[in-house]
Amino acid sequence: MKISENKVVSFSYTVKNAAGEVLDQSDASAPFSYLHGCHQIISGLEVALEGKEKDAKFSVHVDPEDAYGVRDESLIFTIDRSYLGDEPIEKGMQLQLQAEDGYHIVTILDITDTEVKLDGNHPLAGESLDFDVQVLDVREATAEEIEHGHSHSHEHDCDCNCEGECDSDDDFDDIEFTPEDDEKLD
Ligand code: ZN
Repeated sequence: MKISENKVVSFSYTVKNAAGEVLDQSDASAPFSYLHGCHQIISGLEVALEGKEKDAKFSVHVDPEDAYGVRDESLIFTIDRSYLGDEPIEKGMQLQLQAEDGYHIVTILDITDTEVKLDGNHPLAGESLDFDVQVLDVREATAEEIEHGHSHSHEHDCDCNCEGECDSDDDFDDIEFTPEDDEKLD
């Protein structure tokens, strides 16, 4: 069975940055699984998986444009320090901010007595990635998985709050952070 839309794919992988450092990996005992065609994984990897079958092994180089995007300096912004309350913060720390369209990870670039400078770029923005992948399984998605827009392979009970759609757009470029949007910090 070839990987195509509405197939649930399980695979193991190792991903390295341009310097050859391993950023993440998942072996056969804890494979990653996803619903193909739903943009749940970075586009460069999803495209490379298309048409592959169980047991396929391959390497793929993914440019930033097809991974976590190029860096966008307009995503650097400043908020009032008071907005973060008594949260202990330090430079380089990552915070989750809630915006209208969900949570986004921001990195603290600088802290003054009154302001905090944040970077809304994905931590891997601007990085090219090299994946080594082995396809472990390809199967038809269930009707429920298609309805939810994700794989249920590793969940006994899906308690997701999903709205039942394949979320095809998770584009950081469209986000504008304003304090009003960000009600809560984790
Ligand atoms: Zn679900």
